[in-house]
Amino acid sequence: MDIKSIISELNCFTELHLHLDGSVSVKSARELADIENIILPESDEELKDMLMVSEDCSDLNEYLEKFSLPVSLMQSEKSIEKAAYNLCCELKSLGMMYAEIRFAPQKHCEKGISQECAVRAALSGIEKSGFDAQLILCCMRDGSDNSKENLETVKLTEKYLGKGVCACDLAGAEALFPNSKYLYVFEEAAKLNVPYTVHSGEALGYESVIEAVENGAHRIGHGVRAAENHEASELLLKSQVPIEVCPTSNINTCVFKRISDIPLRYFMNLGVNVTVSSDNMSVSATNIKNEYLKLAAAFELSLDEIRLLIENSVKAAFTDESHKERLMEIVSAEFGRYSGEYDKKRG
Ligand SMILES: [Zn+2]
Repeated sequence: MDIKSIISELNCFTELHLHLDGSVSVKSARELADIENIILPESDEELKDMLMVSEDCSDLNEYLEKFSLPVSLMQSEKSIEKAAYNLCCELKSLGMMYAEIRFAPQKHCEKGISQECAVRAALSGIEKSGFDAQLILCCMRDGSDNSKENLETVKLTEKYLGKGVCACDLAGAEALFPNSKYLYVFEEAAKLNVPYTVHSGEALGYESVIEAVENGAHRIGHGVRAAENHEASELLLKSQVPIEVCPTSNINTCVFKRISDIPLRYFMNLGVNVTVSSDNMSVSATNIKNEYLKLAAAFELSLDEIRLLIENSVKAAFTDESHKERLMEIVSAEFGRYSGEYDKKRG
């Protein structure tokens, strides 16, 4: 059985880096638009184009423009709950076992609901779906004077930590608003013992990764540009801070031209804790299986290496040890189905 068929069959994938607003399907967008009383184009093709980045996207800033429509469709508790529910149902149908879904509650308060209401609504959607998922709450770097909102997001993370929320994040236009402007976010999170991941080393270079790790980040969103510098790569190795690699998204935002340009093997050979996620299922028109299929084809990954990447994700998850053990058991059972192939590949 070839790797492609095995990836298609496996039911033990994990997403550590997945944005709720970047993962609204056409079908879900229509349901949300009904709730929000927003008129969408009748043609599904046209709507898909509105949710998906174009092939000539030039950078992360242009990529981020695709979030305005889905964010506008999620401005009430009912629509946020529905969006989270729909995404979880889709993840379940894709054969995933666990996901950490992120969103920025402060972007969903335009019609007057509070950040806390937005968080509770998303949690309720996850719970109703029955899918094993937690929330990462994103603080935003978007040029507005939002330090008050960001600090509220960190405090909300602490309040709901272990109750469906597992960490916070810093998201947005990295190149325009570097980590150095948001040290207060990291300090607050550290003070409250809240785990955090930081989008770094995507639009900006390796310095951004060093800055995030040195400021206590527990994971790095993307982090791929650490490969540009020996010191940054060594720091990832020594600290074992996992990186959340999102291949298609990196091509969309022109970090790399081709999937084979992503320094996946470099990091794996070095011993860096590499995990794989899809970032935005609708904006990047992808899903986790697609990401693994692309990597397997570009790097001729063995079954052993696929398993290693999946196990890395479980180990890097913001969850407790007993939950990780349960997830590892699913991984073992799933790969057990291919033990013949597995042993063969191991030689
Ligand atoms: Zn992201």
